[in-house]
Formats: sequence, C-alpha cells, structure tokens
Amino acid sequence: MRPIRRSSALRERAVSGTSEGPTPAADLIGPAVTESNAQPSPGTGATTPYSSAFSAAPLAMAVVDREGTVAGANSTFAELLGTPAEALTGKAAADLVDLASDTRTWHAYREVLRGRQAELRCTRRLKHPEGHSLWVRVTVAPLPGDGSGGVLLSVADISDHRELQARLRHLQMHDPVTRLANRTLFFERLTAALEVESYDESGTTGRIGLCYLDLDGFKAINDTLGNRVGDKLLASVAERLTRCAEQAGYGRSSPPLVARLGGDEFALLVEDSTGTEQLADLAESLLAALREPFDLSGRRLSVSASIGVVERHAAGTTPTALMQAADTTLYWAKADGKDRWTLFDPERNAHLITRQALAATLRAAIDRGEFALEYQPLVGMEDGRLRGVEALVRWNHPQFGVLAPNRFITLAEEDGSIVPLGRWVLATACRQARAWQVAHPEEPPIFVSVNVAVRQVWDSDLVSDVARILDETELAPHLLQLELTESAVMGSSGRPLQDLQALSDMGVRIAIDDFGTGYSNLAYLSRLPVSVLKLDGSFVRGFQYESDNSAAVPPNPADEVVVEAMIQLAHRLGLTVTAECVETLAQASRLRRIGCDTGQGWLYSRPVSPDRISELMGARV
Ligand code: C2E
Ligand code: MG
Ligand code: MG
Repeated sequence: MRPIRRSSALRERAVSGTSEGPTPAADLIGPAVTESNAQPSPGTGATTPYSSAFSAAPLAMAVVDREGTVAGANSTFAELLGTPAEALTGKAAADLVDLASDTRTWHAYREVLRGRQAELRCTRRLKHPEGHSLWVRVTVAPLPGDGSGGVLLSVADISDHRELQARLRHLQMHDPVTRLANRTLFFERLTAALEVESYDESGTTGRIGLCYLDLDGFKAINDTLGNRVGDKLLASVAERLTRCAEQAGYGRSSPPLVARLGGDEFALLVEDSTGTEQLADLAESLLAALREPFDLSGRRLSVSASIGVVERHAAGTTPTALMQAADTTLYWAKADGKDRWTLFDPERNAHLITRQALAATLRAAIDRGEFALEYQPLVGMEDGRLRGVEALVRWNHPQFGVLAPNRFITLAEEDGSIVPLGRWVLATACRQARAWQVAHPEEPPIFVSVNVAVRQVWDSDLVSDVARILDETELAPHLLQLELTESAVMGSSGRPLQDLQALSDMGVRIAIDDFGTGYSNLAYLSRLPVSVLKLDGSFVRGFQYESDNSAAVPPNPADEVVVEAMIQLAHRLGLTVTAECVETLAQASRLRRIGCDTGQGWLYSRPVSPDRISELMGARV
C-alpha cells in the first residue's frame, strides 16, 4: 500500500494522541505517514481488513476530513482522475469532483461535512487529464461509526451508462430514414421554445418562426417507384433542408431545427426569429434547393414542395396554436397552386373562424389578458407635432393570431362582454397616457382617445367608471377623449345624454367617430356636449389627388367643397376637426389648407406599441 499523507486536521489528532485513539478514518486508510514520522506507527502499522478493502475496492473512494480535505484515496480513485493517489491527499475534495460549481450542491456538501445532512448524491462531468471527459456519480456520506466528522467520498464512473442513455435517446428522438429530428424531438424543442423563460430573456427577439413543408406529389412517387426510392428521396430532401438551415443559421447561435414530422412532412423551427422576412428568405431558399433535380441511383427525379410559413411573438402562442396556423397555411400554399410558400395571414384565417368560436371565448380572453392596445398618433396639421393618440384594441388570440377589432367588437357588443372589455381598454389607455406624461415631463402631455361602444353607455355606469379610472391612474380629465359614433349619440336623451354631459363637465372631451357616415347633423350635434369631429376616412379618400397631377383622376370637387364647408361650420360651432385615414402628403396638404385641425393615418404612423409612441413624443411625426 502506498503511504498516504494525512491532512493537517487528522494529523493533529493522531499526533496529539487524544483519548479516542486512532480514528476509524485512520483505520480505514491504514498506516499513517506524517511529515515528521515516515514510519507506520506501532499498533496501526498492520494493514487492517478495512484498509485492504478500501484500497482494493473497484469503486473510487476517498476519505475526506471535516474541513473537506482528502485524507486518503484509493487507487481506483487515482486511476479515475488520472492522478497518483499521493497527489490527491491534501487536496480539497470539492475541487477534485467539481462540487463547488453550483451553489446547491456546494451547500449540501458543506451540510454533510458538518454532519447536518445525511448524504449528498450528484452527477458530474469531469475532465480527464488525457483530454476525454467522463460522467461520474458522486456520493458523499459520513464514515460509518466515525465520530471525527470525516466523510467517505465515492465516485462511480457512469460514462458508459450515460452514453448508452444518450444513444437510446437519440434513437427515440430521430427518424431512421432521414436521421433528422423526429416529431417527438420537434415538439419537445417547440414546447421549450414557447416557455416564458426561453423567450423572455434579454437579448432575444421573443419571436418564433416555422416553415412547415410538404412535398408535392410524393405519394405518386412512392406508389410508382416504390418505398425504397421514396425513402432515398426523403433522405436527399432532408440533406438539402439541413444545408439550407445551416446556411440560414450562419452567424447565429444555433441553426433552425430541421425535423421530419411524418410521411413527406418536414418542419424547420426558427427560435428567436427576427421577423417574417427571415422566414420568407428561408422558405425561398428551401424551395430553390428542392427544385434542383434529384439523382437517385441513376434516376433523375424532379419534385417541388409547398410551405406554410408562420412567424409571430412567442408570448401568447402555444405549440398547438402554432402548428394549427402552420397547417392552415400549408393548405393555402397547396390550394394556391403548390410549389410555393405562403405566409400565415390572420385576416384570411379569421374568415374561417366561426363567430361562435370567437364569441364563446371572448369573456375568458379578457381574464386571460389576451387583449392588447396599440396607439395611433393624432397629429397637429399645422406643425406636424404629436397631440394625442387613439387607443385601438387587438386580440392576441392563442389560436388565430392577432385579430383586428372589426372581428370581435360587434360580437362583444352583442353578448355584452364589451362592458368589461371596454373598461379594461379605458383603464389601460389612461394608465399608459399617465405613464407617458410621467416619463416625459419636459414634453407637453399627449391625450388618449378611447373608442366607446353604444352598449357601454347604455349598460354600464360609464360616468362612474371613468371617474374611478381617472382617479386611480391620476390622469387629468382633459387628457382623456372618448370616441362615440353619431348613431350612439343621435337621439340620446335621458340617461345617456346626462352621462355625456357629466363626462364633459368632468373635463373629458367627447369626439364623434366616423363623422359623415350617418346623419351628419352638425346643428344637432352642436347641442350635445361634443367637442371634436372625426371625419370619416371616406371623405379623405376623395382628396387623393392634387389638381396639378394631371395623370391622375381629378379630385371630386363636390367632396372638397362639402368637406370645406363642414369644417368651417364645425369651427363656427366650436368643434375641432380630425381627419381619419390620411395616407398621402397630397391629402394632408389639402386638409391643412381647408382648415382641418388634426390628422390621423398611415402618412403619420400606423397604430404602434406604447414604446414607439414614447419615441415619437417631442419629434415631428
Ligand atoms: P376607428 O375608431 O375609426 O379607428 C380607426 C381605424 O382606421 C383603425 O382600424 C386604424 O387602424 C385605421 N386606420 C388608421 N389610419 C388609417 C389609414 O391611413 N388608412 C386606412 N385604410 N385605415 C387607417 P382598427 O384598429 O382596425 O379599428 C377599427 C375600428 O374598431 C375602430 O375604428 C373602432 O371603431 C373599433 N375599435 C378599435 N378599438 C376599439 C375599442 O377599444 N373599443 C371599441 N368599442 N371599438 C374599438
Ligand atoms: Mg375611433
Ligand atoms: Mg374612426
């Protein structure tokens, strides 16, 4: 047996010869060799049965003192670590088997050393001095019957077991024909990618993309040329897809995952995608790669594929929703003529959605927080500065993607869920307006304009809701504008009229939305507590062409005259005018010329996120 150098703690004990005599730990290790005494001490000089068992054990073991220092290690341990046993003595055991790299293990290890925890088991990957790595199972437990506080560290090499496990897992997770990830692995990765922790990290885009691909006419190839040719084709297709994925992943942390989902269906999962453009480029490259003829054992085969492309925020989507969208989109690509990619279009999809499907989930969706607001700038026509924003609600439907309000507002009005939804919109918009004000104290505050449905006026106590929300959000009443349609206020008497009056008295501005599509009874409106007219987009559309643009259709002079007269009358009645749907500079300059006060439309900005509005504050829009 090789002499073993004891750690200082054990040495002190042995040298001072306490009444306990040699500790069981010392018994186990066998003859003690100290710096001052290189000879086995009498009495312990004989090799004990324990020490022989210790040194000959096929399990790597070391005795560790209560300070965590190796008092002795057996030769199996030495071999495992590729270090002479003598060199191990005196070393910190935690360093040898990497117990300090994670705090939980380190804490548990300290507890075992202090005798406060019975055992520690953990799996570790160690680097052998010869370069290879090995997986070990580490157990730390008190030495049986040992009063010294020493522990036994045993280390089992489980590298073979791990490798076998990994190989089995690989088999379970991969398709034997193409060697691609199979459905199981694909869904595992997709599910993981859609977990909040994955996409919510800083530095990630929080988006996810998917190309769902199906070969056109594969069944015919399989039927006429046989399964073997079919399989070869699938394997070659897989190779090309993998190559495209690698090219697409160049310079990124990981290339898209390519999987065979079954038959001739493949999927490419792009985690942390940057937008639809990235997915479109990928889909285009896949189609191009597959259009090249295949040479299968001397037989030339041409195939094409159809691809459904989905790209969206990871938040609020589920694997099922994403796959359903991909499936629908692939179906469109096939229906549109094959050999093409098609991008998921929530509008096109929404046509397929039954009203019932939406209505049934509306109320629960409010509680689940599936709604979000975008804000569209309202811009001063004279100076181009941001005056306010209109809050526009969107439904981030887990299954159907982002739905525009025209898909669900009517439904919400029909079943009454517009009341809680409207309340949520109002509170969210007011909170946001106040947040902008607080964040930009140097800028004049901007107001927020919130759409109010008729039923909100009739079926809920709008006045007390507004008062409470203004109070809670600390937003000044003059920074809130409510948009109602003409038909909502027409003929109002009794409570609705009193409500409008109460709101106006509070300092909240009332605007008539889509003005001009209904009765357009200005004289009547002026008797109501209304202060803003929002001219419907259909008027502005008539302003599309400048008269000096001879190539274009001339503007309809009637429109211009009517609108000009309307604006003048509105001004005389003390109303300000906002034009909706301003899309061109020509429209804007005409509207400015005829005295329109504010404009809203794509020329200035589409509806955008609150952050973008923050950026626009103070800038000319
Ligand atoms: P609206 O109040 O007339 O809102 C303006 C709509 O015109 C918005 O559509 C906006 O995106 C669109 N738009 C803005 N600029 C342009 C442009 O230059 N050209 C064109 N073609 N369109 C433009 P959106 O967001 O789809 O809203 C549609 C309607 O849904 C709104 O019409 C409003 O009546 C209703 N709505 C939106 N949010 C709410 C809400 O929170 N509550 C209620 N009750 N209704 C809402
Ligand atoms: Mg509106
Ligand atoms: Mg409108």
